[in-house]
Amino acid sequence: MLARVIELINEYLKINAIRRMFSMVNIRKSEILGLVGLAALFAVFEGVGLSMLLPILQYAESGETAITTGSGVIWSSAANILRALNLPVTLVVLLLLAFIPILLRQVVYYFNAWYSAIVANRIGVRMRVNTLNAVLDADPSFFDRQPVGHLVGIAVTQTEAAGEAVLWVVKQLSVSLLMLLYVAIMIALSVPLTGITVVFALLVAVVVKHSITRIRDFGIDAADVNQRMMAKIVERFGLMRLVKMRDQKTLESRRIEEYSETMRDIRVKQARLGASVEVYADPLLMLSVFVTLYIGIAHLGMTLAQLGLMLFVLNRLNAKVKEFNTGRQMISTKMAGLLLVRQTTAEAAEANTIHRGSVAFDGLESSLVFDDVSFDYPQSQGLDGEILDEATSVLRGISAGIPAGSLTALVGRSGGGKSTLVELIPRLRDATSGSITLDGIDIRQFDVGTLRKGIGYLTQDAMLFNESIRENLVYGLDYEPTDDQIRDAVERAYAGFVYELPRGLDTMLGDRGVRFSGGERQRIALARVLLEDTSILILDEPTSALDSESETFIQEALAKLHGEKTIITVAHRLATVIQADQLFVIDDGQIIERGTHEELIGRDGAYHKLFASQLLG
Ligand code: ADP
Ligand code: MG
Repeated sequence: MLARVIELINEYLKINAIRRMFSMVNIRKSEILGLVGLAALFAVFEGVGLSMLLPILQYAESGETAITTGSGVIWSSAANILRALNLPVTLVVLLLLAFIPILLRQVVYYFNAWYSAIVANRIGVRMRVNTLNAVLDADPSFFDRQPVGHLVGIAVTQTEAAGEAVLWVVKQLSVSLLMLLYVAIMIALSVPLTGITVVFALLVAVVVKHSITRIRDFGIDAADVNQRMMAKIVERFGLMRLVKMRDQKTLESRRIEEYSETMRDIRVKQARLGASVEVYADPLLMLSVFVTLYIGIAHLGMTLAQLGLMLFVLNRLNAKVKEFNTGRQMISTKMAGLLLVRQTTAEAAEANTIHRGSVAFDGLESSLVFDDVSFDYPQSQGLDGEILDEATSVLRGISAGIPAGSLTALVGRSGGGKSTLVELIPRLRDATSGSITLDGIDIRQFDVGTLRKGIGYLTQDAMLFNESIRENLVYGLDYEPTDDQIRDAVERAYAGFVYELPRGLDTMLGDRGVRFSGGERQRIALARVLLEDTSILILDEPTSALDSESETFIQEALAKLHGEKTIITVAHRLATVIQADQLFVIDDGQIIERGTHEELIGRDGAYHKLFASQLLG
């Protein structure tokens, strides 16, 4: 029986849930101590102030004799205080004695509210930063699985909700302390009546439990709909041209309307449940007041003063019980945010398999060697854990040497594994087996930051931000380039056109660089890579989406780098392939032919076929 009561109280105050939550949100010990300390101080002043009401009421009832007849802790401590301060027992003095703690209580209230806001917002910021860090540390495989809008929703909306959930938990903490205090005062007045009140408060908790659980479930549904809606909107905005070309405006806006309607239904249900909590709780709490009154008068023969204080305290306790219920509702509503943030952070951390290493990479001097490298794309899972794709073996037994300063071209049919292979060098993915070494050092031993910064990487997508050209050019550079250095790189990348723009380098690019043509964007991206001045350059079909004039510009820029940098390029144009020092033909995850253009063209093999099919035209 006792165990059951303790369990109920534990369940009511959600002590375990609170402990679990605090372990999730990395709140500091000092912060918990500060918050609890302030809440306790508030409770102390509140308690002293309230307790003083009893002597006042008793004084009103029976005048000065109260001090001699009035027994019990409260009167004796009041009398002690008055004696110590050398004050006479008058109504004014008693009222003052009650009023001073109330004033102090408000001062503490102010600091408590202030500090709570500080802590809750700090937690919100910490959660956002933690989430972002975890997401930015995750391997590309994590991003392959997660829609961008979903991640935006987590980083912006759900971390905010999580911070609010914590704020409400913190509030619950001070409400709980006050409830305990009121119960303590009531115990001083009458143990049996306190028992009855506590039973009613627990009864309220049990009655509204079901509604609160459903509010939490709806909170989870709402967060889920919110996430899916954001993912859809971000995706559709990204493919606006397709939406327009298929004339799908009505359908797309209808789709978002449907999400919004689902959301509205959930919110309305939540509000209705919230109202029902009030409806159930209020009569029960009133009833507890009446029962207390009845038993106090009819069976315990309490004085008017005792009853008055009892009612006063009961009233405040009931207000706190209601506040506590509101808190439970708010936590239930916001909890989904915290859970989503936790889940995403955990998934991101799990997808963080690239360990950093410690050797600083400062340029390739002799050679890059692939030794029996294989790579499997891991099995991919949906959000609910179902298996979407089995693991696929993409590269098998790749062995190759690339001398420093040489130009190596990878050619082959689409889907052969060329992009995957070059992504292994900057460790965007790690080989499943085998090793890749730079000057004899395994790439896994390098500090991954210095390794990546030591490699220039240009893909089909020019990778530019919606910022000024200058900001794009200097993004992530370790030094501040002079205007001359920038001009030099821009000119070597045949991107001199940027100086003819009215605002020059300060021209904004627009989202995904829409203000420029594909060729112009790629030349700006190349200028950035040249500013980085890395010893290794990886090019993954940077010209495949360009017109032949732009392509020629890029080709010429690269030809000038031949011999200066170690260049590995995925190519399908003859112009690049002819000048390469060595060619690898990659098909179905293996190197099936290797040599120079002259050597390979002479054989009647895969390369010859590619050539004949005009893939290398
Ligand atoms: P290439 O660049 O030669 O066209 P890729 O390296 O892009 O080839 O792809 C090689 C193979 O890996 C393809 O069969 C492709 O379907 C598969 N693949 C590429 N990316 C992923 C991924 N994120 N998850 C699973 N399989 C992938
Ligand atoms: Mg590719």
